[in-house]
Amino acid sequence: MSNIDDISKAIALLKQTLPEMNKRNIPTTPENYSIWYEYVNGENNKLIEAINNLDKQRATFSGKVLKELHLEYIANAHQAAVNQLSTSVKEIINDFLTKISSEGEGLTHYANTLSEFSKRVEGVNDIEDIKQLITHLLDETRKREDATQSMQTSLETMAMEMKKLRAEVSKLNSEATTDSLTKVNNRRAFEMEIDNCVSASKAESKPLCLLFVDLDHFKTFNDKFGHTIGDKVLRFVATLLKNNIKGSDSVSRFGGEQFTILLPETEYNDALKVAENIRERLSKQTLSDSAEKIELGTITASIGVANYKYGESSEELVRKADKCMHEAKREGRNRVVGEKNLKKSPNESKQTFI
Ligand code: GH3
Ligand code: MG
Repeated sequence: MSNIDDISKAIALLKQTLPEMNKRNIPTTPENYSIWYEYVNGENNKLIEAINNLDKQRATFSGKVLKELHLEYIANAHQAAVNQLSTSVKEIINDFLTKISSEGEGLTHYANTLSEFSKRVEGVNDIEDIKQLITHLLDETRKREDATQSMQTSLETMAMEMKKLRAEVSKLNSEATTDSLTKVNNRRAFEMEIDNCVSASKAESKPLCLLFVDLDHFKTFNDKFGHTIGDKVLRFVATLLKNNIKGSDSVSRFGGEQFTILLPETEYNDALKVAENIRERLSKQTLSDSAEKIELGTITASIGVANYKYGESSEELVRKADKCMHEAKREGRNRVVGEKNLKKSPNESKQTFI
């Protein structure tokens, strides 16, 4: 399918998802949204069956029911696919082991035939006997050729199956680490990535910075233009962020309308420049929705910039960047605050562990 087809399909699905949710009075949280998106998408048969059954029973889609649906048919669906994959790999290997073992038996039989032939050929003096022996040997050799041919075919089939499985694995892997709405890394991928970056920075004493990006007044934007347009804006912002980083930098959707950007091997002052460049580019774009022909105005972001210090944990780095982002909000939004500009709040020493 072309990119345009993908986008039109996604838009068509988005348009069907919200009425399905409204019909059942379901709050539009990201989790609930993923259930109903999958429902209208028509590919998750088990989920569709479960929802249709609940509809038949006129059940209420309470928070508990929705949580269970998400866990069983969305979150665990990935695990089920991984299990299915590992079963397929096991089956292929077992099948092949059986073939190798029968090939081994065939080879032993052939070796025995050859050694018997060599013994018998010593004692013959009749040309007819030699002819018979040769015919027998030819028969055995032909059988071996056939077996080798079938082994070759098995090997080729196995290689093909393995290629298919490898593609399946990389698809699953990317699904598990990609945010389905914006196609940047999801929170899970971010957590793995930041741990890797922190370890590398510690091991090689290289700089590392983290940007925490939070869209300003996004709730108001959603309330004004609707969730569907809000989603489009999130995709647009994700693309803008990706287009304004380079090399080994990586963008993730931290959650909702918040994104993080890891900048390995980047000094604090350069990270501030990256953040300022992103803030400025975003705030200068006037957005409009081509499908609905609506002017959307501008979207701005508040960005916190944290600089990794040797010995800190990943969580501390995130906490610092988040704190800077909140300071940017407090100072009026649409701005960048770096940790070195953080004005210490009087409450800072009051720590509550949760
Ligand atoms: P602030 O400037 O203080 O950050 O205000 P805000 O409105 O951006 O922050 P708040 O946390 O009050 O609201 C975040 C909003 O982001 C609420 C929610 O509707 C929206 N949002 C979160 N996830 C999604 C999503 O996946 N799609 C859409 N369209 N909106 C989302
Ligand atoms: Mg916000």
